[in-house]
Formats: sequence, C-alpha cells, structure tokens
Amino acid sequence: MKKHNFSAGPSILPEEVFKKASQAVLDYNNSGLSILEISHRSKDFIAVMEEAQSLALELSGLSGKGYKALFLSGGARLEFDRIPYNLMKVNGKAAYIDSGSWAAGAIKEAKIFGDVTVVGSSKEDNYSYIPKGYTIPEDADYFHCTSNNTIYGTQMQEFPETNVPIVCDMSSDIFSRTIDFSKFGIIYAGAQKNIGPAGVTLLLIKEEILGKTGRTIPGMLDYQQHIEKESMYNTPPVFATYTAMLTLQWIKANGGIENIEKKNNEKAALLYNEIDRNSLFTGTAIKEDRSKMNVTFVTVEGVNTDAFDKLCKDAGISGINGHRSVGGYRASIYNAMPIESVKVLISVMQEFEKSFK
Ligand SMILES: *Cc1c(COP(=O)(O)O)cnc(C)c1O
Repeated sequence: MKKHNFSAGPSILPEEVFKKASQAVLDYNNSGLSILEISHRSKDFIAVMEEAQSLALELSGLSGKGYKALFLSGGARLEFDRIPYNLMKVNGKAAYIDSGSWAAGAIKEAKIFGDVTVVGSSKEDNYSYIPKGYTIPEDADYFHCTSNNTIYGTQMQEFPETNVPIVCDMSSDIFSRTIDFSKFGIIYAGAQKNIGPAGVTLLLIKEEILGKTGRTIPGMLDYQQHIEKESMYNTPPVFATYTAMLTLQWIKANGGIENIEKKNNEKAALLYNEIDRNSLFTGTAIKEDRSKMNVTFVTVEGVNTDAFDKLCKDAGISGINGHRSVGGYRASIYNAMPIESVKVLISVMQEFEKSFK
C-alpha cells in the first residue's frame, strides 16, 4: 500500500513524476536507451537541461530579467561555501540571519571567508520565530536568509527592502508560494524537498552581481564557470535533473505556483486548525511565522505518544517524527502532498484525542 509520506526530505513527489521517471529508466523517449546510460552531451539530454532551466526561470517570473538558472550537484550545503566564495570581497563582509540550524550552518561556512555580521537570531528561543526588525549594513557584500526553516517549522512571510544583494536558501519552500523572485540576487534550493530527488540543486542567479570579489575562484566553485558551461562544466546529475524537470512540468501543468499556493494554504490551514483545536497537541512555532511546508508540533505534557505513533503507523502515515535534534512531530506537506493525506493525519489526531476521554 502506498503510504502517506510526510517526510521532510527527500520527500514526496507527484505520482505522475514517479511513473514518467521510472519509464525513462527503462526506455527514454523510445530511444532504446535508458536515461541512465545516455551521454549528458547527447541532444536528448541537452534538451532536458534546457527545458529544466527555462521552466525554472518561467515559473519564477525571471525570464529575460538577467538571471541564469543552474542545476548543479553538491547539495544546498555546497552553496554555503560557494556563496561567500563568489560574493564576499577580499576583506569584505556579509550579513546573515540566524533563523535555524541550516542558517547557522551557512553562517559557520561564511566565517571561513571573512567578516560575518549576524543581524538577527532566534537561537535563544529555540528558533521558534523569524527574527525581525533588523538592520542590514549598507556596506555588506550580500545579505543571506533562509526562507523556510525545515527543522523548526518557521517561514519568512516577508523579505527586507535593501540595496544589498539578497541571497536566499529556499530549499524547503521553493515554488510553493508566489513571491517576487526578482528581489533576490541568488536563490538556491536542494531539489529534494519540493522540486525533485536528492542529488541536484537549483540556483537562480542574477548575473550582474558576480565577478566583483577580487578572488581567484576554483573552477567547480565558480558560478561564472557553471553559467558559461550551462550547468555542464562537469557531468551534471542527469537523472536527478530529469526528474526535477518532470516536477517543474507538473507544477506548470497544475496551474503554476499560484494554484499550488492555494492548495498549500488549504492543507496548512486544515492541519494548524486541528493542532490548535485538539487538546492533546500544541504547535512549536509562533503563529505568525508558521511554515506552510513543515508543520511542527508536540503533545501536551504527560501524554504518552505510543498510542498515537501506533495509530499513525496503522493508517499508513510515514515520516512525521520531528528532526532528530528537536524531537516531537513534523508533518511536511510539500507541493506534491495530496490534501487527502493531510485529512488522514487529522482524523488520526482526532481518534487519538477521543481515546483519551
Ligand atoms: C535540507 C536543507 C538543506 C541541506 O540540503 P543538502 O542538499 O542536504 O545540502 C539546506 N537548507 C535547508 C533550508 C534545507 O531544508
């Protein structure tokens, strides 16, 4: 039986994408070859890469606005290093918000390269909210933020107005909601949360912000090198990029980001309503910063969770344990999560409450 998959990442993808991807493994486009055995320089794969790049620019509304889309390997974490390498001047500085473990990981790496100012942090409060009211130094080479904090279940609802280039880690909410993507200098996202399998990272880069650091950048770390070679400087993650392309096609065919956002809002509202209504559960993030992708919650004190875990298991619910560093529960309800699965989780929460009365 297919499970209701609430995993935080790698995570659920549309059923249709699984079907098309598995067909391509057996025979890609009736070529008599598997997608896994064709050259990345073949006409067939170049078409895949071009379509993936152009869909990413189209969905974000960035076509013709001076941006390039790249699909690279290394994971979001490699960008924690590539970003300062490409944007921080020699003796320069950068501003970061510390809104969760991934943000803290990015800060740690940037400190290797130069002066990092942490302009806001919610660490003292267990990252239960998004820092606000901070000032970005005018002379920062860039400002880095994390749009959605996957582990803590908080999400930025607005982004600052600044002349400093904004760099954003959107790994866990890319293409889940309509935002003005042209506010950003660089957007990056590991595909495995919302737009594909593990192994590929999407980057949307405003070209004019590159080439200003005075550093010599090693080839694999140099965004300009990857742009010039159109994501083919080295062998790209062929299958992961293909599957990401299928997922972007699915978003487009399902009414684009606007329609996906409507569904995401509906799913999140249903689940948060139940958490707030149900006497056995409480949410861990403050209400105004709640994430519509990762819904984090705990049971109230004194409740033994074994029965709830068993009910979940019996209902085919998978992957709702909180991150190993925080515990509790986390239901990740990414783009591909059907509302029916959210309803199953809610009915299990209600059943658990009834069993207590
Ligand atoms: C998962 C995640 C990462 C790490 O991605 P990798 O591809 O494993 O390097 C970074 N940032 C955020 C916000 C994430 O959710």
